Amino acid sequence: MAKKNIDWENLSFGYIKTDKRYVSNYSDGKWDDGALIEDDMITMSECACVLQYAQTIFEGLKAYTTEDGRIVLFRPDLNAERLANSARRMEMPVFPEDRFVDAVVQTVKANADYVPPYGTGATLYVRPYMFGINPVIGVKPADDFQFRVFTTPVGPYFKGGAKPITIKISDFDRAAPHGTGNIKAGLNYAMSLHAIVTAHNEGFAENMYLDAQTRTKVEETGGANFLFITKDNKVVTPKSDSILPSITRRSLMYVAKEYLGLEVEEREVYLEELCDFAECGLCGTAAVISPVGKIVDHGKEICFPSGMEKMGPTTQKLYDTLTGIQMGRLEAPEGWIKVVE
Ligand SMILES: *Cc1c(COP(=O)(O)O)cnc(C)c1O
Repeated sequence: MAKKNIDWENLSFGYIKTDKRYVSNYSDGKWDDGALIEDDMITMSECACVLQYAQTIFEGLKAYTTEDGRIVLFRPDLNAERLANSARRMEMPVFPEDRFVDAVVQTVKANADYVPPYGTGATLYVRPYMFGINPVIGVKPADDFQFRVFTTPVGPYFKGGAKPITIKISDFDRAAPHGTGNIKAGLNYAMSLHAIVTAHNEGFAENMYLDAQTRTKVEETGGANFLFITKDNKVVTPKSDSILPSITRRSLMYVAKEYLGLEVEEREVYLEELCDFAECGLCGTAAVISPVGKIVDHGKEICFPSGMEKMGPTTQKLYDTLTGIQMGRLEAPEGWIKVVE
C-alpha cells in the first residue's frame, strides 16, 4: 500500500476525487449485483426524477486509521438502517442493509491509499446515496434507481482546535411536524440553503431551528443535533419527531451514561430554558462535537458559562471519549467498530 501524496494536515472539508466508487442499479423491481467503477461522471435523462422532483437520499460516515494502523468504520450498520428508513419515506426501494455495509467496505478498501494516516486529524469521508434516475414528468416516484458510494479525504473539521461558535435562532423552519425532518433527504438541505447563507451573511456560523408548530422548542441545526449540559452536569438532547436521528448524538448519549456515568435525558427543550444550561454543542459525523458559545435570539444574547475560548469541560470529556473509541485508543462497545483492513 502506498499512501497518496496528499498534505493530510492541510486538507479542507471539500471534495477530492478518489480512484473507485461503487454503483448498483435498480430496475425491473430488483437491484443488480453492483460493482466498483472508475468513472466519476453520471449520465442520465434530462427528465430524471432526481432532477425534476428531488427524489434523492444520502448518508455520511467516515473511515479512520486507528492508533494500531487498521482502517475502521464507525457503526456503518446504523447508516444502513437510516438509509433504509429514508428510502421507505421517499417511495424508493431499500438497498439491503448488509449489502450497504459491504458496498461501503468495498469502496473504502478500493481507496485505502486515500485514508489519512493516524494522528493527522484527517479522515476519509464516505458518501452513500440513492436517487431516482428514469424520466418522470407526471408527479410520481421513479421506477429505476441508482445507489452509489464515493469517498473523499477530508481535513480536521477544526484546524487548531475547536473554538466555540456563535449561532442564531432562525426565522426559517427546517422541518414540519409529520414532514421529512427525520430522514436524510437532499430536499431538507435544498430548503436550508437560503437560511444558512442568510445566517452567514449576518456573521453567524449556524442556525438553530425551532419546532415549526409552536416555535418555542429547540430542534436542530441544518446538519447537526444539539447536546446541552445542565449546571448539575446532566446531558440533555431535544426530543422531536422532526429531528434527524444523528448517529453521533445517539453514540454520545450512550458514552455519557455508560463511560462517564452521567445522567442523560432526551426530552423537549424549550427556547426559554437555554439560559439555564452550562454548555452547548452540535453533534454530527463531520466534527463529532462543535462547541457553541453563544446563541443570539433577535439581538438578545444567550452566553454559555463555558465561554468563547474552548469547549466546556463535559463537552470535552464526551468528545475525547467518543474520538478515543473511534481511533481505537479506548475499548469500543460491542459492534461499534467495523474493521475494513
Ligand atoms: C446527517 C445529519 C445529522 C448528523 O448525523 P450523524 O449521523 O451524526 O452524522 C444531523 N442533522 C441532520 C439534519 C443531518 O442531515
